[in-house]
Amino acid sequence: MINFEYTRVSSAKAAVSTKAKHAASQFIAGGTNLVDLMKKGVTAPQRLIDINALPLKDISNDAKGLTIGALVPNSVAAENNLVTEKYPLLAMALNAGASAQLRNMATTGGNIMQRTRCPYFYDITMPCNKRQPQSGCGAMEGYNRMHAIFGASEKCIAVHPSDMCVALAALNATVHVSGAKGEKKISFVDFHRLPGDTPQLDNNLQTGELITAVHIPSNRFNKSYYLKVRDRLSYAFALVSVAVALEVSDGVIKSASIAMGGVAHKPWRLTVVS
Ligand code: SF4
Repeated sequence: MINFEYTRVSSAKAAVSTKAKHAASQFIAGGTNLVDLMKKGVTAPQRLIDINALPLKDISNDAKGLTIGALVPNSVAAENNLVTEKYPLLAMALNAGASAQLRNMATTGGNIMQRTRCPYFYDITMPCNKRQPQSGCGAMEGYNRMHAIFGASEKCIAVHPSDMCVALAALNATVHVSGAKGEKKISFVDFHRLPGDTPQLDNNLQTGELITAVHIPSNRFNKSYYLKVRDRLSYAFALVSVAVALEVSDGVIKSASIAMGGVAHKPWRLTVVS
């Protein structure tokens, strides 16, 4: 791992302004993905901006829906009564991800920002357009049984690895963001990108923007399930997963929202069935 500077901040404003001053910096919270990327030389920020002291650890609910702070650990969100009672699909997806130890460290914001687990992305001896634009794609002719079947490009066939994000896409969540130009909200389905010609970009965050929360609108879904198919029963990324939320009345499906994971560069919403 290379040497880097370290700064601890205590407000979103300070986080954003510190990021603006240091172009080659990255925010760090749980670090469950970023530290691995740094150890392997995939990424080499000159400065880490530690955001763990920011007041973004609350889960709240009102008539409009549920808001989860960006620093809420995945394990806390999965066990929160508001989540398990009102949005059990999210709890199921969270518990399907990683190991208990990782869920204790990983945060809501970090889960959204985690990078692909394409093995060629992590092997700096291999070509990878996502790690190094225009270098090629090792997976295209390589070992790619866990790669994209929807929305891929000639430059990249990687998939987004999150389980949580698949549930959030099905639940029509919104990502709350703070940046130099103020606050904004991004619809979850518009947050992550398809690879196209710029696979190095995972999402539509602008430089220096910070995720502060995720909001799930209240809904009428009364049946839901997260199904994850994987090579091992635990601690494995999805070959394919599906998050299903249904509004069922008198045995009839009145409305449905379905998203798939492990199949594309972003959670894949099946809007035709909604
Ligand atoms: Fe890199 Fe994407 Fe190809 Fe994997 S699929 S090697 S992440 S360009």
